[in-house]
Amino acid sequence: MLPFTGNPLDRRSDKRGDMAWLAEQHQAARVLPLWRLNVLVAGTPLLSAAALPHALAKALAAPDAASVFLGLDGEVPLFALDVSGTAEAPEALKQYGEFLELRAAAPSLRRKDLAILSQAKAMLDWHGRHHFCARCGAATLSGEAGYKRSCPRCQAEHFPRTDPAVIMLATCGDKCLLARNVSWSGDFYSCLAGFMEPGETIEEAVARELYEEAGVRAKNVRYAASQPWPFPAALMIGCYAEVESLELRLDPTEIADAEWYDKDQARALLADEIEGRRGPIKIAIAHHLIKGWLDE
Ligand SMILES: [Zn+2]
Repeated sequence: MLPFTGNPLDRRSDKRGDMAWLAEQHQAARVLPLWRLNVLVAGTPLLSAAALPHALAKALAAPDAASVFLGLDGEVPLFALDVSGTAEAPEALKQYGEFLELRAAAPSLRRKDLAILSQAKAMLDWHGRHHFCARCGAATLSGEAGYKRSCPRCQAEHFPRTDPAVIMLATCGDKCLLARNVSWSGDFYSCLAGFMEPGETIEEAVARELYEEAGVRAKNVRYAASQPWPFPAALMIGCYAEVESLELRLDPTEIADAEWYDKDQARALLADEIEGRRGPIKIAIAHHLIKGWLDE
């Protein structure tokens, strides 16, 4: 079970258009407030999502603030609500917890809460970026309990997006390939990755990215696992790719450096035991791809 996965909510997508049913859910709702996409969390040593009574949360939000029905947590309806209207995080919520950036909070959050907050953050982030119709430019309106935005001028319907990205551990014999992207800090090495493009299979995207970024030819691509990554809306599709040779030809616009690691070196990287090198942290699927290869 990877971090960000295992969301237990019953999303009841069949009921999102039923206004009477939604009004009932509001009465009993618990609300996860997000302030400028930061999540409200509390607890020690593990963090939990702080949920508010509906009336309190509603009083803090602007009348047109984005609200999303996340699903039923057992019998309890859970909503996400944008409370970003104030310059500072709402004072009234200090007693409930602290607003943290999701990525920073993720390593300490309970698995279930991380998955739910990831859904909440991705949805409110999508609303924040889609106030206007991509087709005609008119202001759009939220519907379907926050799962749709409609254009009153041209009738276009817009739905929340998830952007698939492939992330792959290339292997050749007993070595794996780890690289440093030009946009990363100087000591961080991880798997190669890239967004899928229209008209590609997962395997084709893996092969293309490996060839473009490192000049290696994939001969065998194997799907391993996927992970929602709400920064802002990716789905990471984790794969292993056996490549033909150790010879690299790096794309200098994307990759600052890449090296082949044997299993001892990769193990040491994950354990943070190599001076001047950092590997992917445990919340990232890259960490688990490397660990899975080490355990093979
Ligand atoms: Zn339109």
